[in-house]
Amino acid sequence: MARLLARRAQLAAARGVSGLKRLLRHHALPPAPRRRCFGSGSKAEDRGQVTPLLKHLTFKIKSTGPITVAEYMREALTNPVEGYYMHHDMLGEKGDFITSPEISQIFGELIGIWYVSEWIATGKPKTLQLVELGPGRGTLTDDILRVFNQLGSLLSKCDISIHLVEVSPKLSEIQALTLTGENIQSELDIAAPVYMKGISKTGIPIFWYQQLQDVPQGTSFYLAHEFFDALPIHKFQRTEQGWREVLIDIDPKGPDQLRFVLAPSATPASEYFIQDQETRDHVEICPDAGIIIQRLTDRIQEDGGAALIADYGHNGNKTDTFRSFRNHKLHDVLIAPGTADLTADVDFSYLRTMTQGRVATLGPIKQQDFLKNMGIDVRLQVLLRNISDTAMREQLLQGYDMLMNPKKMGDRFNFFGLLPHQRLTHSDQKVSLQHSKSLSTPVAGFGELVWK
Ligand code: SAH
Repeated sequence: MARLLARRAQLAAARGVSGLKRLLRHHALPPAPRRRCFGSGSKAEDRGQVTPLLKHLTFKIKSTGPITVAEYMREALTNPVEGYYMHHDMLGEKGDFITSPEISQIFGELIGIWYVSEWIATGKPKTLQLVELGPGRGTLTDDILRVFNQLGSLLSKCDISIHLVEVSPKLSEIQALTLTGENIQSELDIAAPVYMKGISKTGIPIFWYQQLQDVPQGTSFYLAHEFFDALPIHKFQRTEQGWREVLIDIDPKGPDQLRFVLAPSATPASEYFIQDQETRDHVEICPDAGIIIQRLTDRIQEDGGAALIADYGHNGNKTDTFRSFRNHKLHDVLIAPGTADLTADVDFSYLRTMTQGRVATLGPIKQQDFLKNMGIDVRLQVLLRNISDTAMREQLLQGYDMLMNPKKMGDRFNFFGLLPHQRLTHSDQKVSLQHSKSLSTPVAGFGELVWK
């Protein structure tokens, strides 16, 4: 493992990915969010950038009127031809942002241990499907698979398979390379439910899908890291006339400029999504996230398993978090769609509501607490003990600081878990868990890791 770390550190150093100079997508927003949202604030030269997707969207708006922020976000990110995620690698130095698994191998290793610990806690089922939503470069699953391999004797009787839900042909190609060690792009059939297949470097079958519904049912453990923040959100503004949806229209200042406007009257979305007891003046809702949570809930209720969701987010108290990143810098959300990342904080309270209490929810718990509970300090010491190279030790410590420091990712990132109720009701051990008064079994990460 130390050798692997060394290789990754060398690679990162070669790429200049020290992590610390890169802007992370979770960075706190400047104040006065509404001004940022409804104003433009962009440079003149940026405003002139007319991308094919901007052309497509202005054509659409001219034909059928202003579009919702959700439609804008969906088109900008996943339009099959011009969507941001579809045809380029946005992660790392040459991209637009960097994520925890790309910063330190320890992150993925601890998540791997979480899955093994939950697999043990649920009675070591004979099959284990690991399902990752939005796997990026495949680094996180690769680190998890290395842990599975090292715990081979424990998992030897278990039939393990990997199922990746990924819309991007480009990223699935990179995932295949990371996980199988070869390019299996030639087998790609983007129209089939399983659009690609491969075998991991350790001999585990891997399947790729466009959507969660295509993944076969069965005991599954789900993972979503920085996935939910990429799903399209609707935005609503409280006005004197009541709630109005924020829409995107062509700016009269120029044919190729966009601006935010408010729907002139209430829309079905504003009537349906806003709760009567809402106290905020501006609200973001992600119905796609709700649908995915309901699907995960159905599956966990029927087949067992668990889901681990990690992302930046809040508990139903933030307002305008919609933002864009390009080349590691904040970017105007309405400029050059298709060339920049669009993201919004995940509302964990909404995710919890969407489970309808049919599964137990754990968290959100801060990343620094989760990783501490998972034993990150011990893991760091073990790795440091095995490395003498000063630059690599420094790299390791910087990675740890980035993941754990409350001012970096430690506080802004959260872990959120979904588990069957029965997983939490048959134990005599006590652990304090947020939002789950009835829970009495330690679930690693949300309480201290206990190996039985
Ligand atoms: N989990 C990775 C990558 C995060 S970026 C990491 O932490 O490094 C978001 C990922 O979600 C990308 O792989 C992107 O292609 C994928 N994605 C975005 N929208 C998606 C959708 N609607 N369905 C499936 N995958 C999606």
